[in-house]
Order: sequence, then C-alpha cells, then structure tokens
Amino acid sequence: MLLDDFIYFKIGKKKSIALIAHDGKKQELVQWTEKNKEILKNHFLCGTGTTARLISDQTGLPVKGYNSGPLGGDQQIGSRIVEGNIDFVIFFWDPLESQPHDPDVKALLRIAAVYDIPIANNEATADFLITSKYMDEEYDRKVENFNKNMLSRIEKFSQPE
Ligand code: PGA
Repeated sequence: MLLDDFIYFKIGKKKSIALIAHDGKKQELVQWTEKNKEILKNHFLCGTGTTARLISDQTGLPVKGYNSGPLGGDQQIGSRIVEGNIDFVIFFWDPLESQPHDPDVKALLRIAAVYDIPIANNEATADFLITSKYMDEEYDRKVENFNKNMLSRIEKFSQPE
C-alpha cells in the first residue's frame, strides 16, 4: 500500500457535492439545481457563498456556504477536496468573462484533476454526470500515492551531490 503507485478513495453513495457558478452562469446553475432537486436532495451540498445562498433561497435545498469565490471560496473548496471531504463538483465557470480570482479558479480545476474528482464545467456535462449510474453506487477514485511520491522525493533530495 505504502509503495503502490495509486491509492483509491471511495466516493460513497451519498456524495459531497460542491456547487459553484460565476456571475454570468448563476441563474443557469440555480435552474439546473431546481431541475435536479429530487436527486440532489439525497446528497450533501455545499458551495461558494453567493451561489450557495441563491440555490438554497430559490430551491429550498440545504447548501452549506463557504466564502464567496473572489474572497477565497474556491480555495476553501479545493482544500476540502484535498482533505477528502468533497468528492463531486458542479462548477459552471464563465468562459466569456475574465475573473479577478482566475488563479484560484485554475487552482481548483487542477486540484480536482489531481484527486480524480468528477467535475462538470458546463450544463451538458452536469446532465451526463447527474444521470450516471454511479450516482447511486460507490465509486473508487484513483489518486497518485502521495506517500510513494514523497518517499521518492525525499530519497532524491537526500542524495549527496
Ligand atoms: P460566488 O463565487 O458563489 O460567491 O459568487 C463563485 C465564484 O465566482 O467563484
């Protein structure tokens, strides 16, 4: 286990879903959550501040809110992914608008890729994800073995010049 190339983390039947939408996409995400309310109510929901509040106000779904995206909410969600507490992301980012927190957005997309997190970045992908058979099943996501990775880096940097 310590030296396997990958570690598998279970995404449970009840998923921990983060919901994020840039301003130009907020109404689209609210409507999408309304449309998929019956499915989403079976999972734990969270999101960046404004998005979370809009969804809970307009659909009645409980959504735990982190800070607003431009104030660090995307970074908070990224850190929860690293800690293993968020395992599914719906992130409607706006490809036609530049964002003050663009580096944070990029960081979140990167960390989601590192941790093999299912992530939908537009409505069509979200529709495919939410109707996947894995929504009702457990799923093993596959993550680089950080122990092995670290041990080999320690070895590399411990070599005398
Ligand atoms: P918000 O953040 O939900 O607080 O608007 C989303 C974002 O822009 O990343």
